[in-house]
Amino acid sequence: MRLRFWGVRGSIPVPGAETSRYGGNTSCVEIFEDGCPTLVFDCGTGARPLGRELVGRPERAVHVVFTHFHMDHLFGFPFFAPLYTPAFAVSVTAPMFTGDATRERVSRYLNGVFHPLRLADIPAELEFLAVRPREPFQRGPYAIRSETLNHPGGSCGYRVEKGGKVVCYVTDTAPLTRPGEGLAGGGKPTARERQLVELLRGADAVVFDTMFTHEAYLERMTWGHAYPEYAVALCVAADVRTLYLFHHAPEATDDELDALAERWASATHPTVKVAREGEIVDLEG
Ligand SMILES: [Zn+2]
Ligand SMILES: [Zn+2]
Repeated sequence: MRLRFWGVRGSIPVPGAETSRYGGNTSCVEIFEDGCPTLVFDCGTGARPLGRELVGRPERAVHVVFTHFHMDHLFGFPFFAPLYTPAFAVSVTAPMFTGDATRERVSRYLNGVFHPLRLADIPAELEFLAVRPREPFQRGPYAIRSETLNHPGGSCGYRVEKGGKVVCYVTDTAPLTRPGEGLAGGGKPTARERQLVELLRGADAVVFDTMFTHEAYLERMTWGHAYPEYAVALCVAADVRTLYLFHHAPEATDDELDALAERWASATHPTVKVAREGEIVDLEG
């Protein structure tokens, strides 16, 4: 199982000289393996280059799973090339009550007003599905479990298992506790933190929302984003191998992200890396 970052930025795409090394595209992460349909988490603007890559491969199925429908996670969806390849089977899953509700939510964007196309104009074989938190489900060869997160309007974190390897994708989320409490406060995990720790338990790689610094989080606690120390505390408790800091703030420059990587360079339990657009992580290695 391999993972590739196609978009690592939060909130809004930020192309430009100051973000060219870590990348300016918004959330899109691919889980893949030769001979299997690809699994895609979120369709931020990173979904456009990913889609071009997918239509060049022999496989003609892809599973898209959304954490939630904020625009930075949805904006790239109508620019995802498999949608315009008639024989392509595209499943779209989101944390909704029914598949029809997922379809309805996506159709609010592809409605001829916010985008020139309507959902009915898409030539691919589209299937819309729903996932309920903590209800295990399967997409292609991937066994997936989910957990509710702490984000305005809701978001869902995922754990993917295949062949004994585990990847977790956890964005967008604020800490589940108030400052000073639970793991974030250096104490014992609260009940909700324990659920999230179980989702992350023993993972080979965890991709986690760390849009804020701790100081910025304290000023914007209701915005629904976390900070590196919190992600590390959860990953320590869950015995995670490698943590990827993700959903970088739009204003974070490459130099600032280098400094962040440097600050965590000596961490070993877990190893802490700053997610970078284009990076491929081989979980078998
Ligand atoms: Zn976001
Ligand atoms: Zn969001």
